[in-house]
Amino acid sequence: WGVFSILIVGLAAVAVSLMSMKVRMEGIGPESATGPIWFTTGVEFDMLRLQTALMGYSLGGVEADSVRTHFDILWSRVSHIQRGAVAEKLIEYDVDMAKYEQVMTALKDAESQVLSLDATAADRETAEQLALMFDQFHTDLRSISLTVLQQSISDANEMRGSLLGMASAQIYLSMVIGGAVILLIIVFILDSVWSVREFKEKDALLHKAQAADIAKSQFVSVVNHELRTPLTSIKASLALLNSGAIGQVPEKFRRLLDIAERNCNHLTTLVKDLLDAEKLTSGTMKYDFEAFDLSKAIEEDIDDYQSYAKAFDVEILAKGIEPGIKIHGDRGRLGQVMSNLLSNAAKFSVSGSAVEVRLTTRDDRAVISVTDSGRGIPENERSHIFDRFHQVDTSSARERGGTGLGLSIVKAIVEAHKGEVTVESEMGKGSTFYVNLPLERSA
Ligand code: ADP
Repeated sequence: WGVFSILIVGLAAVAVSLMSMKVRMEGIGPESATGPIWFTTGVEFDMLRLQTALMGYSLGGVEADSVRTHFDILWSRVSHIQRGAVAEKLIEYDVDMAKYEQVMTALKDAESQVLSLDATAADRETAEQLALMFDQFHTDLRSISLTVLQQSISDANEMRGSLLGMASAQIYLSMVIGGAVILLIIVFILDSVWSVREFKEKDALLHKAQAADIAKSQFVSVVNHELRTPLTSIKASLALLNSGAIGQVPEKFRRLLDIAERNCNHLTTLVKDLLDAEKLTSGTMKYDFEAFDLSKAIEEDIDDYQSYAKAFDVEILAKGIEPGIKIHGDRGRLGQVMSNLLSNAAKFSVSGSAVEVRLTTRDDRAVISVTDSGRGIPENERSHIFDRFHQVDTSSARERGGTGLGLSIVKAIVEAHKGEVTVESEMGKGSTFYVNLPLERSA
């Protein structure tokens, strides 16, 4: 931009100086034909011509009319020189204008004599005297012409000087502009080269990132597949052992079997969450949208999670579930949302407390709220708990069987339903998670 500004300013300056040079150059032409020197020498020569005519007349070789013509020409020249632009210029050159007035007076004095020339002997003598009378003005007229000539020359020199100055200024300006243009071209070329290089680097990085992403997705799906199958069979085996169907398990083994089953459940949740998170990031999560009764669905979810909550000595209460609220969504995925919110509420509740679930409508939205009376979420953490793998207190969250993925999955699923999930919390008093979803007719 700097170079560009210099260029614009430079061009404007060149244009202005060229314009003023043009105006001055235009003034030079007419100056030569109408300049003051042309008039002063004109008067001088016409005076000479009149004198020559008078002398010629006195000797008998020139007609009286010819004398009168020269007299009129001189008269008109002298009166012209005393008026307008010519007079102004002469005053500017310090010319003594009184000299022309004297000439004019002499012309006026001689007028009647010149008009009455009549080829008589007396007339011839008068003509001679007049010729001699006009002689007295020669020196002054000559010196005026010289003064004007000198002034014109110094004027011309001054103009030449300023023209030269302007020409050099233009040369410097052209050099600056040329330099700026070259600089601009260099900057442009370098910028293009850098952009191409940067583009290539970014392209290579993008390819690497895409390849890494594909590899990661493949890895996650392979791991999921490879883990899920053995996990299902371990879970089934443990459940069989625990059920006592293949024989009574000694009490000291049961404790170990319980630990094994609990960890197996954690691992199953982790694998499921990982798979879902991967699907959400790669955009391959599938939704089966349909109209369904959200009120009923939530009551079912509460029932399903009652036994899970009991393990933490917590009860889930349906507090004001408005009946018959219908939405358009994926029943299974919204069940996953409720499962995450309810399990979190139970996990982070104080033992012996209750989790309250509400469902109501506001405007054209269904609003679900899950309230616990647990430890609460610190204010600076509230905006981060929806990030992947973010846990407020890592060790206690892990202890309670968390992956840090649950709320990020909740957020993604809710947003895919054009909904919103928010949290309100008070430290030491508990938290409420709100999920609002569009009602069926506006979905
Ligand atoms: P996790 O699997 O660890 O529960 P989530 O993504 O579901 O992962 O939750 C992220 C973190 O948010 C939790 O580890 C916990 O620290 C915090 N959190 C979520 N729900 C609650 C809640 N009801 N009360 C207190 N903290 C909560």
